[in-house]
Amino acid sequence: MRFGIFSDVHSNLEALEEVLSFYKKERLQSFICLGDIVGYGPNPNECIQRIVSLKKVQVIAGNHDYAVVGLKELTWFNDLASRSLVWTKRHLTEENRNYLMRLPRLIDHSLFTLAHGSPRDPIDEYLLTARQYLDNVEFFRTAVCFVGHTHLPCVFYADSLGIIQIKPLAEGEVFKIDPLAHTIVNVGSVGQPRDGDPRAACAIYDSDSKEVKIIRLKYNIDATQQKMRQASLPLYLSERLSYGR
Ligand code: ZN
Repeated sequence: MRFGIFSDVHSNLEALEEVLSFYKKERLQSFICLGDIVGYGPNPNECIQRIVSLKKVQVIAGNHDYAVVGLKELTWFNDLASRSLVWTKRHLTEENRNYLMRLPRLIDHSLFTLAHGSPRDPIDEYLLTARQYLDNVEFFRTAVCFVGHTHLPCVFYADSLGIIQIKPLAEGEVFKIDPLAHTIVNVGSVGQPRDGDPRAACAIYDSDSKEVKIIRLKYNIDATQQKMRQASLPLYLSERLSYGR
């Protein structure tokens, strides 16, 4: 089966629509959202509703999702993030608040494990180093675990010599999961990429061929930025979308 896997939408409806219409063209029917639907951007309610409207979708919580519903202290966030979270909190509908509140921290599926940050610390850990990868391996049983959170598309794995590799995943690059190993794949961010490429990032995973591919898609950044200015969200948060940083 082929899955459309995406993360860190961050209330960016234009980027999300681009990703979902790409998935539609690819005739994908099963979806996975790795958390942080909200925070930073101007359309939290619309993004939640769009994701809920997907028929077959598995969704887990991210740190921003938990913060806006009071399951995580705002003091954990930097000033700009917490200002956007206060704004989001004010605008979120009751129904969507309840939806975020019910999201699980981790999904342990037979084909894969899903966590926002890492399998060891699903909501908060920024998985960046080989040491962290090694420490996380014992926390998932499946051959592959998908994560988001850092907004950097990459893969963590041990090569044939047992050396830990952290490989950035370029657009269109196909990575084959070793069914006997433990690989962690970060699918990047839909709504606020930070790898220097401002295009939305998302992934397709084929659970039969065990291949994962990163896709990059242009979207109307100007439209998102204009909405952010109108909403008086911090200027830096809208400007960074142009640079993908
Ligand atoms: Zn995020």
